[in-house]
Amino acid sequence: MCIFCKVAKKEIPARIVLEDDDLVAFHDINPVAPIHVLVIPKQHITGIGDVTDEHALVLGKLLVAARRVAEDAGLLQSGFRVVVNHGQHAGQTVHHVHVHVLGGRPLAWPPG
Ligand code: AMP
Repeated sequence: MCIFCKVAKKEIPARIVLEDDDLVAFHDINPVAPIHVLVIPKQHITGIGDVTDEHALVLGKLLVAARRVAEDAGLLQSGFRVVVNHGQHAGQTVHHVHVHVLGGRPLAWPPG
């Protein structure tokens, strides 16, 4: 089973900040910003490059949850970034789709 499926099933520990029937949000184990939370669907989806119309509802829920995470972390005024990596060039390391919510400091653009 993939590592984020194990997080979703509580088979490995995570610092969960938000959960509902469809998704879980938890602190990244290796944060790259003062706030770095991952939002994942409980359903296993390999990556954003693999989604179809049938995933539209859950993908929308991930973004709404990302906004909620940002609000709860006090980031709505200062700003935040949501990132979804897919594949080698984007540096995807976990093959279960996840939305990074990053904030708490100025974030450079374009990304490296
Ligand atoms: P990506 O490079 O987009 O695939 O991002 C994967 C992210 O998952 C990285 O930022 C890792 O630090 C994070 N990560 C990997 N394993 C865990 C875990 N068990 N709990 C929390 N975050 C994790």
